[in-house]
Amino acid sequence: MTTLTKYVEVEYLWLDGRKPNAGIRSKTKIIKGPVTKLKDIPEWGFDGSSTEQAEGRFSDCRLIPVFLLPDPLRGAPHLLVLCEVYQANGDVHPSNTRAELRAIAKKYQTAGAWFGIEQEYTLFQNGRPLGFPKVGFPGPQGPYYCGVGTENIVGRDLVEEHMEACLKAGIELSGINAEVMPGQWEFQVGPVGPLAVADQLWVARWLLERLGEDHDMSVSYAPKPVKGDWNGAGAHTNFSTKAMRASGGLKHIKVACEKLKRKHHEHIAVYGAGNEERLTGKHETCSINEFRYGVSDRGASIRIPMATANDGKGYLEDRRPAANMDPYQVCAVLMKTICGN
Ligand code: ADP
Ligand code: MN
Ligand code: MN
Ligand code: MN
Repeated sequence: MTTLTKYVEVEYLWLDGRKPNAGIRSKTKIIKGPVTKLKDIPEWGFDGSSTEQAEGRFSDCRLIPVFLLPDPLRGAPHLLVLCEVYQANGDVHPSNTRAELRAIAKKYQTAGAWFGIEQEYTLFQNGRPLGFPKVGFPGPQGPYYCGVGTENIVGRDLVEEHMEACLKAGIELSGINAEVMPGQWEFQVGPVGPLAVADQLWVARWLLERLGEDHDMSVSYAPKPVKGDWNGAGAHTNFSTKAMRASGGLKHIKVACEKLKRKHHEHIAVYGAGNEERLTGKHETCSINEFRYGVSDRGASIRIPMATANDGKGYLEDRRPAANMDPYQVCAVLMKTICGN
C-alpha cells in the first residue's frame, strides 16, 4: 500500500485568440502538493492551433501563472490559476491583453485607481433567452428588474450558486441583481485595483459558464441579445482615483470627463464588438455617436452618481462598455486617458 498523497487538481485558465471576442479556456494539471503560493505552480503549455493562437506548425504556447485562487467547485486543496499566454520564444502573445494593463497599472500606480465593473449577461437555453417562450415573447419589460416571484424571475438557482462560488474563491463581488430583460442578470466586481478587477472578472465569467453546464444553460455576453424593445447587456465600468475620492474630488471627475470626451472613439474601439446595436440612445444608453456626461443621467455616456455630486467626491460610471468587453483593454484605456495628460 502506498501512503495517501495529497494531489492537487489545478485548473489553468487563459484567454484564447478568438476574434472579435476572446473566450476563456481551461484544462487541469495534477500536481503533487502541498501548493501554497503562485511560485509553487509550474508553467505549462497548450496547443495554440486549437485556440486561434498559433499556426499548426509552431503550435506551442506558454501558460504563465499570474493569479492563484481556491477552486470553489472542487473544494480544498484544489485550485484555479489564471495565466498569461506567451509565445514559445518568450515574447508576450498578441492575444495577451493583460500584459499592456500590467504596464499601465505600474506606470500610473500612484494615481490609486479603483475599478468596479457591473457585468450583465443573459442566460440561454435551447437557443432562446431563459424565460422566453418557444414562440413569441414574454410580457414587456417592467416587472423583471430586481423582481421576485416565479412570474418574473428565471435562473436564480444558478445565479445564487455563482455568487457563492465567487465569494468562496475570494472574488470581491459587491452584489448581484436581476436585470430589465427576463433571463438577464448582473454581478459586480470591485472596487479594487485594475489588474485585480480584470483578473477577478475573467475568473468570475469562467465560473458562471462552468456552473451553467450543470444547469444546461449557456451564458451570453452579447450586447444586444434580442433585437427590438429589449434591453441590451453592458459592463458599466466605475472608476476613481485617489484624488477623486478625496475632498474636492468632483473637480477631478469633471476633468476626467473632458478628457474622455476627446478620446470617445478610441474608447469605443475597445468597448466590445456589436456595441452599436446596444448604444442607440434608448434603453438607458447614450448613442454611440455622441458623448455626454451628467449627474444621475442614465442616458449619458458617463454618469456621475448622485452621491458623488452631493459629497463633492467619489467616482464616475462609464456606461459605454458592452457586456462582451475585455476588462484588460477597458481598464487600460481608461487609465491611459484619465491618468495621462
Ligand atoms: P448601478 O447599478 O446603480 O449603476 P451598482 O451598484 O450596480 O450601480 O455598481 C456600482 C459599482 O461601483 C460597484 O461595482 C462598486 O464596487 C463600484 N464602486 C463604488 N465605489 C467606487 C469607487 N470609489 N471607485 C470605483 N468603483 C466604485
Ligand atoms: Mn448595476
Ligand atoms: Mn445593470
Ligand atoms: Mn450601472
